[in-house]
This record gives sequence, C-alpha cells and structure tokens, in this order.
Amino acid sequence: MTKAPEPSTIDWKNLGFEYMDLPFRYLAHWKDGQWDEGELTEDSTLHISEGATALHYGQADFEGLKAYRTKNNEIQLFRPDQNAQRMQNSCKRLLMPTMPADRFIDAAMQVVKANEDFVPPYGTGGTLYLRPLMIGVGGTIGVHAAPEYIFTIFAMPVGAYYKGGVKPTNFTTSYYDRAAPHGTGQSKVGGNYGSSLLPGDEAHKAGYSDVVYLDPATHTKIEEAGSANFFGITKDDKFVTPKSDSILPSVTKRSLLFLAKNRLGLETEEGDVFIDDLDRFKEAGAMGTAAVIAPIGGIEYKDDLHVFYSETEVGPITQKLYNELTGIQFGDIEAPEGWIYKVK
Ligand SMILES: *Cc1c(COP(=O)(O)O)cnc(C)c1O
Repeated sequence: MTKAPEPSTIDWKNLGFEYMDLPFRYLAHWKDGQWDEGELTEDSTLHISEGATALHYGQADFEGLKAYRTKNNEIQLFRPDQNAQRMQNSCKRLLMPTMPADRFIDAAMQVVKANEDFVPPYGTGGTLYLRPLMIGVGGTIGVHAAPEYIFTIFAMPVGAYYKGGVKPTNFTTSYYDRAAPHGTGQSKVGGNYGSSLLPGDEAHKAGYSDVVYLDPATHTKIEEAGSANFFGITKDDKFVTPKSDSILPSVTKRSLLFLAKNRLGLETEEGDVFIDDLDRFKEAGAMGTAAVIAPIGGIEYKDDLHVFYSETEVGPITQKLYNELTGIQFGDIEAPEGWIYKVK
C-alpha cells in the first residue's frame, strides 16, 4: 500500500473520497473480557487469524465522522458522542464488546491530532474523514462470538462532496431490500453493505446515483438510501423523514430535524412516507455525513420518474438546511450546545 503523499503536495480542492494510508491510526485489542490501553501505530495492516469471525460471519461494525478545520485554524469534531453511542448499539447487536464513549472520543482526538497536517485547510470544503472499525478476531470456526476483538480508528482527507455547489441527482427504487424487518438495518454492520453492492451497481448502470430502499415488509414505504436517510419537504413546509426499525439512525438526520425545527421554524415529522404519495413533497434529499445533504431530483418507481423540485437545481429549503449544518460543522455558525468537540 502506498503511503499518503506529503501534505504540502496535496491538491485539497480536488480530493475525492478515496482511501489514503496516513502516518497514524489508533489500535486497541480486547481479550479476556477487557480492552488493553490502546495506542497510535504507524502500521496500517491488520494481522488477524484466518479464523476471524469478521471474515466468515460478518462480526464487524463501523462508524464514519469528520474533523473540520475552522476559519481560526482550530480543528473540531461534530457530535462524536453520537457515533460512539451508535457503535455501542451496533456492537450489542452483533454480540461484540463495546468501547466506552469517552475512550472512543479520546481515540478519535488522538488520530486527528497525530495526522493534523492532513486536515484540509478551511475554505476548501475538505475534511478529515474518520473511520472507526471493530472486528471479531482470533481463531474460530463455529458460528459464535469471537474470543478477541480489534478496535481501530483510521483517517483520510476527503474532498467537498460537491465541487461546484449542491446539485440534485436522480435515485431509483429496487426489488432488493437492504435490511430485514427485524434484522440489522438499525446497526452499522458490514453485512448490510455487502448486500447493497449489487442493487447499488444496478442503479448506477441504469444512470441513477443510488437506490432508495422500500420497507422490507410491504414495499410501499420509503426507508432510506444505501448510506443516507431520506427527507422530504411537504408543500406546506413540513420536514418529514421516515420512521422505521430497519433504517440506520443517521446523526445528520437527527441534527437536521433539530435545525429544521429550531433554526428554520419548520414543523417536523417522523412517520410513513408512501412511495405512491410523493406528490405531497416539493423538495427531497438524502442525509448523511459524506454529502451532508444530497438533494434528490427525482425518484424512479415502476418506470415513472417522480421529480420533486427540479432535476438540475437544489430547492431553497434544502439549500438553507445544508448551509446551516455545514456552517455549524466548519465553525461559521453557532452550534447548539454540545455538538462541537474541539481537538486540542
Ligand atoms: C452511515 C449511514 C447513514 C448516515 O448516517 P450519518 O450518521 O448521518 O453519517 C445513513 N444510512 C445508512 C445505511 C448508513 O450506513
């Protein structure tokens, strides 16, 4: 694996979303009922048994969050406590040990600090993406929980999702489901994503940016996209997002629900969004850490493309929500209490 380039040679404005082997990552081991102290390491290769449950039985979960450089050249994390909590929930679902939230946040801070020259400059739109990961390791062959675990957080600089302003794209629906009714949809576990690759690929080949999955029990309601939650703005200005046990609870979604209500003065609702009742919405989008908001131009369903605001222009409420949240993340707009963690 080639090492990351010298930070001074990186073209920050044209970064994509690609793996980069940075100098440092955090690594901790769990064995005999406890975590070791954990430490930063320069080794980006994991050395694990061929019998690791992560490889055979999908005992693996992950998180995704970002570090942002502000105008004053400070570095900050956005709601890392929410990622720590969600990872604990994912771990419990897969019978894995949990990482205490304070240790998760401390590890994230250490990784950012150790790689701080790779946090993109303010104004480029770039961020340092953090990938916490936990896997079951040690030699196992029966279908049961692993005897040992690895927790790691690695990082890489990633570019602004939109280079020339926020732009909508079209999404499609699929015959496939991303999660079962009482399965692991609520958890950020590896298996969910392996099974989303085929429907995602089919959508891309048909010219759509992603799939909007329908509820697995009845296929009548919108659940979410492959790695982002769905929202719509109704014609009477209500921010609506689906409520379901099989969608992944997005931190971006939770944050936008709060901002829609408390900063934009919109009514908000978590409830059913029927695929044959999209006419109630004048704008729609997908929400997640990577893009913040990906406006949805239209959704294809049964050979019909339902267009919301426009296939080429972002709607005004979607743009306002985007500006408010990214303003908070980059430190330009005052954050609600407890959302920002300074990296010192
Ligand atoms: C990670 C993820 C999201 C977005 O969650 P954020 O916390 O906002 O990044 C939404 N849906 C799925 C399926 C995801 O994996």
